[in-house]
Amino acid sequence: MKAAVLYGPGDLRIEEVAKPQVDPESVLIKIDSVGLCGSDIRTIGFGHHRIKYPQILGHEITGMVVETGGAVEGYSLGERVYVSPIVPCLKCRACQKNWYSQCENFTVPGTTIPGGFAEYMLLPKSILERGQVIKIPEGMTYEQAVMTEPLSSVYAAQENADVKLGNIVVVIGLGPIGCMHIQTAKLRGAVKVIAIEVLDSRLELAKSFGADEVINSNNADPVSEVKRLTDGWGADVIISANPSTLAQRQAIEMAAKRGKVVFFGGVKKGALTEIDSNIVHYNQLMIIGHYGYDHIDNFNSFQLIATKKFEVDQYITHVLPLEEIHKGVELTQRGEAIKVILKP
Ligand SMILES: [Zn+2]
Ligand SMILES: [Zn+2]
Repeated sequence: MKAAVLYGPGDLRIEEVAKPQVDPESVLIKIDSVGLCGSDIRTIGFGHHRIKYPQILGHEITGMVVETGGAVEGYSLGERVYVSPIVPCLKCRACQKNWYSQCENFTVPGTTIPGGFAEYMLLPKSILERGQVIKIPEGMTYEQAVMTEPLSSVYAAQENADVKLGNIVVVIGLGPIGCMHIQTAKLRGAVKVIAIEVLDSRLELAKSFGADEVINSNNADPVSEVKRLTDGWGADVIISANPSTLAQRQAIEMAAKRGKVVFFGGVKKGALTEIDSNIVHYNQLMIIGHYGYDHIDNFNSFQLIATKKFEVDQYITHVLPLEEIHKGVELTQRGEAIKVILKP
């Protein structure tokens, strides 16, 4: 079968590999649509500390059941499924606390086992038992189901930060994740969402996702602009969804009293963010780190998309054959694509 295999940082090859064989306890799916995630792009370029090479990447997975092992129950041929890539070990201390996103030992398709950038993928017993394989209902496309993965992380972050009715929310960084944050904050009842970016095209886009105000941080000081747009008060929740330490510092400076600052995006390894801790102290700010999501976030995100409460079609700007994955990476890096979906 055809697959995109990563041999090391910067060395991604499209090649023929053996089709996986079903054992009695696994299910084989034929991949239909698989998302190209920002984290895939980072891994393709720079590797990942947990990856086992050579590896088939791809963790935003949908497909059709084409073969089931003799001992497998609950799956039938022709069923369309979405596969969540978080498979917790259920044994480590974090799992004991039900903090699956912090599992010290998780299995991740596309990182620790072969993922979805291939014609077929095996769903081993661990995924069937401890992962989340959700059947795609009629009326929901594969492409829409793919968007569950990025939305899960956004959903989890806003649950943790408790974004709610009446909040003023700032989102810094308008990739697909930033745009999902805008849309989610509006759904949760934010009265004003302010979007900050350096690309004008992205700021225009942010308005279509519901941003009430936009600021180009290359042309204006985002801290004073947020203060101006909030009568000097600042924002209740600021989500930094980008890799900049400056943005993290500014996020703290633009917070309202008792505001919450979410560090959603990771920064370069070892980079330090300088903050005025007196602002945190006197204004009683809460700084919240965010990473990943748990099963409940994944399930709820899937439901939001399936019921069309959260519209995802406008994110999907490019659907490309798997062979054109390099083009997909370039389109995303240039900011031309919001979300690229690959078809093996
Ligand atoms: Zn992803
Ligand atoms: Zn665990």
